[in-house]
Order: sequence, then structure tokens, then C-alpha cells
Amino acid sequence: MKNFVEKILPDYETSRNKPDVDGSSRLSSYLHFGFLSPLEIAFAVREADAPKAAKEAYLEELIVRRELSYNLTRHNPKKYDSIEALPDWVQKTMREHIDDERPEIFSLEELEFGKTYDELWNASQREMVLTGEMHNYVRMLWGKLVIQWTRNYEEAFAILEHLNNKYCLDGRNPNSYAGILWCFGKYDRPWMERPIFGKMRYMTTASTGKKFDSKKYIEWTKTLKENPRLPETIKNN
Ligand SMILES: Cc1cc2nc3c(=O)[nH]c(=O)nc-3n(C[C@H](O)[C@H](O)[C@H](O)COP(=O)(O)OP(=O)(O)OC[C@H]3O[C@@H](n4cnc5c(N)ncnc54)[C@H](O)[C@@H]3O)c2cc1C
Repeated sequence: MKNFVEKILPDYETSRNKPDVDGSSRLSSYLHFGFLSPLEIAFAVREADAPKAAKEAYLEELIVRRELSYNLTRHNPKKYDSIEALPDWVQKTMREHIDDERPEIFSLEELEFGKTYDELWNASQREMVLTGEMHNYVRMLWGKLVIQWTRNYEEAFAILEHLNNKYCLDGRNPNSYAGILWCFGKYDRPWMERPIFGKMRYMTTASTGKKFDSKKYIEWTKTLKENPRLPETIKNN
């Protein structure tokens, strides 16, 4: 927290969206396990020597976005962990696009081992499996692409939930569910209609990859050391 507040917070407003730099707090797993309270971080941020806009951008994530997730799970105890938690406009658009042809279907195993044709997606999967973390910006693309690579929306949700909660240190958290549901349109608005996604916001690797140095990020994930705690099946791939 001290490192974040002193060295990263001043540029947080711009650096937070760049997976190729160490530009966010990376405190979500400490929050998840209760090692740090959001109040403690909020006070440290308030006192920090950093621009007001940077502090506000951070507190927006820590307080507004995070508490929205806690509200979701608190007030939807029966359905926060399924696509039933999605709003009516998403339910309607999913019904209309359920039979759309998917360009490619990947199995859970192919996804888990990062064996798709998409280098950036594979890199984000590699980051998650080898470090227990995945940067928020690629996490959004990671979730969106699985929607078009699975047979239906239920399967996409189940795979995302499984991988996120199996590998991420901050997994099994209210934010996990709000984050995955966001990929399906929760807390978002309808966008231009297109195959499979219907009116859900669409993200492409090409456009996401232009917003930061994706080549550098991909190369960095290739330098990550194998995690000795990985199951043999993954180590051997
Ligand atoms: C598909 C998907 C899955 C996700 N799964 C998880 C998860 O399992 N656990 C988890 O904690 N977050 C999850 N998120 C939200 C977000 O990606 C992480 O909270 C963030 O990347 C954590 O990194 P950080 O601590 O450096 O965040 P920072 O940018 O430093 O943000 C500060 C804090 O604000 C909160 N926060 C940031 N972004 C969000 C957000 N979009 N929604 C809610 N709270 C947020 C977190 O507590 C975070 O630690 C997910 C998002 C997506 C799109």
C-alpha cells in the first residue's frame, strides 16, 4: 500500500489502464483476504501527495465500483452467480442471439492452457495462471472474448467463473461476479447490435491492443516463471 500510494498513485489516472506498466494498486487480493481494509487504504490515499484527480479516480474504484459489487451479492443472494442477475435488456438480446453461429468454439482445456488463436488473450490467461493476477484492462477483453468462443451464454459464464475463481488470488469475491457479469452488460448500457453479443458492448483485441503497448505486455508474460504450485497437467503444457 505504501509503495502504491507513494510511487504509483500520482499517475494512477492514466497508468491504471496500461497492463504493460505497474500502474494500479494491485491490492485487490489483500482486500479480498482482509489483510487491508478499504478504509485504511482510503485514508492513506486521502493523505497522499498526489493530484486530486488521481485520488478521485482511485477512490471511485475502491469505493463506488467495489461497493456496487458488494451490493450486488448482498441483495441478490440467489442469483448473483449466474446470468439471471443480468438486466432485462440483456436477457432479451441474449434470447435473440442465442443461436448465432460462433466463429470458433474452444474447450475449457484449450482456454485454460491459453491455446486460442488470439495472442493477447493467451497472454492474459498466462498472466493469471502464472501470477494469480490479471490486469483489469485485459480482464475485460478476456471475459468478452470467451462469450464468442463458447456454445452459449451459460457456458461462457461458467467457464469465466471457474477460471477466475480457480486462478485469481482476488477470486471468489463479490468483484469477481460483478466483473464477469459486466462482460455480459451488467452496469452498462445497450450498444450497437451485432452477432452473438447482441446489444452488449463489444471489445476487440485490435482496438484494446492499441490502447497500450500490447506487444510489451505479451512479451512480459512469456518471461514469467512457471508457478511451482501449478497442477502437473498445466505444467506439462
Ligand atoms: C472479468 C472480470 C473479472 C474480475 N474479477 C475480479 C475478482 O475476482 N476480484 C476482484 O477483486 N476484482 C475483479 N475484477 C475487477 C477488477 O479487475 C479488479 O478489482 C482489479 O483489476 C484489481 O486490481 P487492482 O487492485 O490493481 O485495482 P485498482 O485499479 O488499484 O483499483 C482499486 C480497487 O478498487 C476495486 N476495483 C477496481 N476495479 C474494480 C471493478 N471494475 N469492479 C469492482 N471493484 C473494482 C478493487 O477492490 C481494487 O483493488 C474483475 C473484472 C473483470 C472485468
